[in-house]
Parts: sequence; structure tokens; C-alpha cells
Amino acid sequence: MNDQELHELAEKQAALGEVRGTPARDPVNAPMIRHWLDAMGDENPAYLEKGVAPPAMAQVWTMPGVRRSAKDRSPVDDMIAALDASGYTGVVATNCEQTYHRYARIGERLTPATRFTDLAGPKRTALGVGFFATWTVTWYGEDEEPVAEMLFRVLKFRPRTRESSSSTTGQAAAGEGQAAAYPLQPAINQDTAFFWEGVKQGELRIQTCADCGELRHPPGPLCPRCRSVNRGHMVASGQGTLYSYVVHHHPPVPGRETPFVVGVVELPEGVRIVGNVVDCPIEEVAVGMPLRVTYRRMDDQLVLPMWTPGEA
Ligand SMILES: [Zn+2]
Repeated sequence: MNDQELHELAEKQAALGEVRGTPARDPVNAPMIRHWLDAMGDENPAYLEKGVAPPAMAQVWTMPGVRRSAKDRSPVDDMIAALDASGYTGVVATNCEQTYHRYARIGERLTPATRFTDLAGPKRTALGVGFFATWTVTWYGEDEEPVAEMLFRVLKFRPRTRESSSSTTGQAAAGEGQAAAYPLQPAINQDTAFFWEGVKQGELRIQTCADCGELRHPPGPLCPRCRSVNRGHMVASGQGTLYSYVVHHHPPVPGRETPFVVGVVELPEGVRIVGNVVDCPIEEVAVGMPLRVTYRRMDDQLVLPMWTPGEA
């Protein structure tokens, strides 16, 4: 489809209004709530005592499962399929806003209803040219009252090919005007700016509580031990050991060549940090291996800390 046809399909899908999906396979139930609370580390007993589900579980109850049937299709699926077929195969979620109207009660079966609301684009983004697709899902209880709703927006983009990305990474091609930015930029905010400034200077900075001295990583606004908002940082030695890792083969990641290793590195200072393990054949990567930090320039602005085999 061309851009015009994609917009026509979007209008058609939006005109369908709210389309009811298949009711949840299981009613809201205590075992799933217990799994969720465990996974989230939420020890609040109120949910199970009152027989209600945590509101953030809304999506859980009507997950379609791995093998979806044709009757589970929503107005969004046709839109996404058309974008895929038109070459916009990349996807990244950009917005998720949830509104909770009331608690879902144990024993009730929720039904989702999906409304496709908007297609915007094509737009140029750091990931490539793409469309922003927006929809809402409302979950209804058996009494037909809305329990929760969610606005969801994704960017469906045309991934850069390897040739076109290698020609635009690093130094700006002559006449291109600006250097291509590494497509996966970290979210830098007032809690994390010190970390990224440290990286640029070759320092691995770990946040500290200015009151009790507790180290914490990733950085955050509040000390989990004493709840103080006063913070500072220390500079880690740059040594570590590999605590755990995965080898990423698929899906393709913009700006990266697969496979690559994502590790959880335990620092002798007492916190763990996530980063790529580099300069090491994948077969030789092993839990417990000594590592040291190294700094890699990704573009004009961004330096990423990565991990390379170190001395035991
Ligand atoms: Zn503290």
C-alpha cells in the first residue's frame, strides 16, 4: 500500500468504532494475582484480602495466548498487517497510558474492546521513516462497566538496511548535513544525567545515598533503604564479574549487528549493571568471568560503557 492507501485503511478501521474482542479465557483469579505480586515484589496483602486484582494487571486477563484465532482479530491487527506488508516492519512502543475505573474482582470475566483511533505519518524518526498508530483498549466487567482502559501508541518504521545504515553511521556523509545519531538513545533525565556525564569522562559513576551511603543502580530518585532523596555518587573501579548474560540473535536491533551479548555485571562495590560484553568470542563468554569496563563511542554525543574480558 502507498501512504494514501494506508491512511484510507486507517480511516476505515477508525470508523468501525469500538470492536468487542473475545472474553478472557479465565476469570480474574487468585493464583494469577499471586504470581503477579511475586513477580513484581509487591507484598501488599490488600488485593487478596479484598478479592480484587492489582489494576495494572488489566491487560493480563485477556492476553490472547501464543496461537491466536481469526476471531481474536481487532481493528488494530489489520492496520499493523498492512503497515508490515508496506515495508514498515519495525515496531517500537512509544506511549502507554492506563486509566483505572474500578478494581477487577476475583471471579469476574473481563472482555476487551478495541478502538483504532489514529494513524500519523509518514514521519522521519531516528529509527527510520514510519507511522505512529494509536488505539485504545477498554476492559469491561460482566456488569458492562468499564474496569480499565489503555491508550497505546507504536511507531511502525521502515528499518534501515545494513548498507544504508553503514553509510550513515560514524562520520556524516559529505553533503548530508548532520551526523547520523545512534538509533537507540538512552533516556537521560535528572536522575540519570550524572551517570552519562561520567561515561563521557571515562568514569563509571554509581549513585549513592547522601544520608546512609547505600549504593544503588540503576539510579533513582529515592533511597530504597532509608527513603532519603539526598544523593551523590562514587566512581566505581571499573572491575566486575559476569553475573548472568543472554546472547541476542533475534530480532534485529537498529544500529547493532547480531549476535551480541547482553550481560549483568556484578561490581565489587556491590551493585549490578547491565551492559554489552565485547571483544570476546561468544563461545568463551561465561558466568563468573572477570570483566573490566570499556567505553565505546556510538555517535557524536553518545558513549556507552561496555565490558571486556579482564584480569582474574
Ligand atoms: Zn539511604
